[in-house]
Amino acid sequence: MTAVGSLPPLESKLPAVGTTIFTVMSQLAQAHGALNLSQGFPDFDGPPELLDRVTFYLRHGANQYAPMMGAPALRAALAEKVAQDYGATVDPDQEVTITSGATEALFCALQAVVRSGDEVVIFDPAYDSYDPAVVMAGGTPVHCPLQAPSFSLDFEALEARLSSRTRAVVINAPHNPTGTVLSEAELLRLGALAEHWGFWIISDEVYEHIIFDGVRHESVLRHPALAARSFMVSSLGKTYHTTGWKIGYCIAPAALTAEFRKIHQYVTFCTHHPTQLAHADFLRAHPEHHQGLPAFYQEKRDRMAALLAPSRFRFTPSAGTYFQLLEYDAISDEPDQALAERLTKEVGVATIPVSVFYAEPPAKQRLLRICFCKDDRTLEQAAERLCAI
Ligand code: PMP
Ligand code: GLN
Repeated sequence: MTAVGSLPPLESKLPAVGTTIFTVMSQLAQAHGALNLSQGFPDFDGPPELLDRVTFYLRHGANQYAPMMGAPALRAALAEKVAQDYGATVDPDQEVTITSGATEALFCALQAVVRSGDEVVIFDPAYDSYDPAVVMAGGTPVHCPLQAPSFSLDFEALEARLSSRTRAVVINAPHNPTGTVLSEAELLRLGALAEHWGFWIISDEVYEHIIFDGVRHESVLRHPALAARSFMVSSLGKTYHTTGWKIGYCIAPAALTAEFRKIHQYVTFCTHHPTQLAHADFLRAHPEHHQGLPAFYQEKRDRMAALLAPSRFRFTPSAGTYFQLLEYDAISDEPDQALAERLTKEVGVATIPVSVFYAEPPAKQRLLRICFCKDDRTLEQAAERLCAI
């Protein structure tokens, strides 16, 4: 590069942040030809009819900007869907916004409500985009540990962190990376605290349809008092096996949505058009797809659990998501990042070390996360390798 005179100082806005673990581990898996059970994405395609609808719209002129708030057909289809799933009445024009993945929706929701000096509670282990999104909004993340080994909400720990500075609390159920779910009682107890302290709820529900053993998903949208103070965020990528299309959405009351859209319009303006239209058609025509998802993924969870039963890993089968935690203290006392790297290189299976989901990882925790949204053959091969350790 040519010298161009003095440059301004480059002070990182996110000094503690590096490349995400998902990219690091997927690249490592590729470099070593390992089976990739790290980054969460299926190794199979979405429904053929859904793919055909994208081709149709590509060929029929849906190749210019979509409306800023999202294609009307998709917003209407989602409003109908949450009415059926959660009994929620939402106005597709004023309360539903289509985003470039749930990641963008989480970012916009936090930007919309968090100001300098505000605190936002995040439960650790936490999905890695929450903390930086709070920091970029000028807020202060306040980390609250979930209670290991069950990873349930610890209301005592939560209440100790709430104050008049608390602007929002981020919840995620079914939960990445632990695979736990929230009960209705827990959600309502959180709602009572939200009313008392006057904070917003950012509810990350991207795994809303990946929940097992007949348990129902407790969306904030089931409860009008909670919905009135919540941004419900979800992602079609998880439900339709289309993570690469990055179609997410946010459902929030009109006043919140108005502020949300002010941010969204200057982050991306709008989202990929043909895939929105294709999703709208498919959602309406095939509700059985998302209704069948719990059974589809429960079969994979159970298959993987049975395959790993003879291994030296210890685990409680996930209650939701397509992730499974594995405790490895009978195998090694290496820190999880070192073990994840070694397993990728030497055993040929890439996993995610759970410590990266913590602001302050617990010293003695020995956990890896694997992803089971994979073809049966991939699961069988991976389990064979993991059982040999
Ligand atoms: N939240 C959680 C808990 C996730 O696991 C993910 C993972 N993909 C996201 C949000 C982001 O979803 P999207 O890919 O739609 O941006
Ligand atoms: N949510 C996915 C996971 O937890 C990854 C998404 C991403 O790569 N940013 O693995």
